[in-house]
Amino acid sequence: MTTNPSSPPARVRRGHVLVVEDDAATARYLVLALQRAGYTAASVGDAVAAERYLADNDCDALLVDIGLPGPSGFELVRELKEARPTLPVALVTAYANMDVAVRALRSEVDDFLAKPIEPPDLVEAVDRLVARGRAAEAGSQRVLAVGAHPDDVAVAVGGTLLRHRFEGDEVAVLSLTGGDGGPGAEAAARAAELLDAQLFLFDLPVGEVTDGEPAVGLVAGVIDELVPSVVYTHSLNDQRADHRRAHHATLAAARRIPTVCCYEGPSATVDFRPVRFVPIDPFVDAKLEVVAAAVGVGDGSPDQELVRATGRYWGRFGGARYCEPLEVAWDTSGRAAESAAAAVAPVTG
Ligand SMILES: [Zn+2]
Repeated sequence: MTTNPSSPPARVRRGHVLVVEDDAATARYLVLALQRAGYTAASVGDAVAAERYLADNDCDALLVDIGLPGPSGFELVRELKEARPTLPVALVTAYANMDVAVRALRSEVDDFLAKPIEPPDLVEAVDRLVARGRAAEAGSQRVLAVGAHPDDVAVAVGGTLLRHRFEGDEVAVLSLTGGDGGPGAEAAARAAELLDAQLFLFDLPVGEVTDGEPAVGLVAGVIDELVPSVVYTHSLNDQRADHRRAHHATLAAARRIPTVCCYEGPSATVDFRPVRFVPIDPFVDAKLEVVAAAVGVGDGSPDQELVRATGRYWGRFGGARYCEPLEVAWDTSGRAAESAAAAVAPVTG
């Protein structure tokens, strides 16, 4: 075992990281880079030593080389994830190809780092891992709902977001546009306040919502900051091209997020095919207030009636009076489903 006992005591301890790496020079490099950023770090050379180390030491994150002598990094991750599901693990490899990436995702690693890793990228990745692990330990989730326009999220998943807040989860709302021509920044801020959600309001010109940059970068930036475990966005089954582009941009930016679900907006097509239904009975009235704030209209408007009736319609599928429907882009979280109907196999795509 090549543990490194010399962590600098003068620095703020941001967390303890174990590096599982058989190449001594690489291990030293990773440990040093983490220590310089204020982490304490240690290294071991194989899976058996890693298990032994973890039996005696608390760790906030693990960096695991794939090509270990003896049991591989994949095997170690699989065993670790069974015994310690909340311990965040990143796989490190010199062979960055699709095959390895796909296997890494399947073995439920939290991140995937290709050598050589520059220290700033390493520290950023470890910051994310540690934040994710702490959120998992606390049992609360961070949720990000992305829309092309400021009012999209309130109408589609306002009840779901209120439910998340009620359950102690942190909620953030991202709009790619500031909503010129429609309800603007003020309406979005009021709606976010009612949702008790953090608001990220960008000002891409309407009509310039893309499925590549800059939209992907905007969403990815917020995802890097928040490290959500759940992301909601537009369904691809939507008549509006800007909604579909926002869907593509969000899925690209959220590829490492465990759960990504797609919501139904008023412009959804008949091909919208939900497999998950979130019961929102206690939150319907509050949702309608959020919608009123977001779309900038008063009580009893046609929009409100449609929102209520839509929830009532989907309630048939979710064992509640009112539900919000979701398609599942992917879900690797292993969390218990929120409703009986969620037991339906998720659609991957
Ligand atoms: Zn919209």
